[in-house]
Amino acid sequence: NRQILLASRPFGEPTPENFRLATTDIPDRPVQGLFLKTLWLSLDPYMRGIMDEGDSYTPAVDVGGVMDGGTVSLVLSSREPDFAPGDFVVGYTGWQEYAHASGEGLRKLDPKAAPISTALGLLGMPGMTAYTGLLNIGQPKPGETLVVAAASGAVGSAVGQIARLKGCRVVGIAGGPEKTRFVVDELGFDAGLDHRAADFPARLEAACPKGIDIYFENVGGHVWDAVYPLLNNFTRIPVCGQIANYSDTGLPPGPDRTLALIGTILVKRWRMQGFIVTDFADQTDEFLREVGGWLRQGKLKYKEDVVVGLENAPAAFIGQLKGRNFGKLLIKVADA
Ligand code: NDP
Repeated sequence: NRQILLASRPFGEPTPENFRLATTDIPDRPVQGLFLKTLWLSLDPYMRGIMDEGDSYTPAVDVGGVMDGGTVSLVLSSREPDFAPGDFVVGYTGWQEYAHASGEGLRKLDPKAAPISTALGLLGMPGMTAYTGLLNIGQPKPGETLVVAAASGAVGSAVGQIARLKGCRVVGIAGGPEKTRFVVDELGFDAGLDHRAADFPARLEAACPKGIDIYFENVGGHVWDAVYPLLNNFTRIPVCGQIANYSDTGLPPGPDRTLALIGTILVKRWRMQGFIVTDFADQTDEFLREVGGWLRQGKLKYKEDVVVGLENAPAAFIGQLKGRNFGKLLIKVADA
């Protein structure tokens, strides 16, 4: 059983030396639970947090432990009545080729309803993040302007498309011309802007002539600086992620602007709320029904960035934190 372990904790950006490929024996006929073969491994930005000491909203991985992660697996053997060999399941079995599982937290997939890999993307944790964060906190209304960054990625692409279905004007921010073209031409956003362009703040202002009513915060960093002056009165800001800052080793230099920000929140009556997708776990069925329906009706599109081979997961993950992925980043671990 090949596994990717956390070899050491990163200081700043992760490097290949922080990971180690190991091979272990694993009994293939467990006396309890299920024995699973990993087919797909999801790589997600929150994994940067679990590499650090101390728990964030997900528990830290021990040094020497298997990296945690969402997976789609094939059931090889099962002693649980709800699962049988040949079933496909989605769960959190980590960066490894085979795993034992109790059955708790596993959801059975119907390969006829949608490609099984979508259970890690549009019909999985990232899609649910987009759907619940946008509808519960963003509360989109027809005619409003929504801005989202990391717009070609798993969360951002779903946020923008769902906001369009709700009648919003949608501006997507992404890294480079290929991604910005994609969000307009393929996903149907109203505008796509490259955050690396020198005149990005001016272009953003021109793309939002009526200001911004909803800012779905995925990245922080210099994108937040450009967005901030354009936020209207009563703007809603679902705070989903800050990927630009995940590897920071301290606060940025310069004056502390916390009080100024709180003052602006007061004067402009912004509603800014952090959330973790699991806060809305009780909306899972509704999410699967509604987003699954939109997908089957051709109203939503998704893009996957597939890297083949578990051994390539560390490099792919390091690249994701720098924007090298284009679409939902997946490791194809094995065929069924
Ligand atoms: P993506 O597939 O979109 O990959 C991350 C993307 O972030 C990169 O491709 C890159 O896109 C962008 N990025 C990286 N660094 C920077 C930077 N310095 N400035 C601007 N953009 C940057 O990831 P996801 O869709 O899975 O996740 C998007 C966000 O949602 C993340 O912040 C993640 O942590 C958060 N999240 C939060 C959840 C929650 O429960 N709160 C659950 C799931 C995700 P580009 O090249 O376009 O810049």
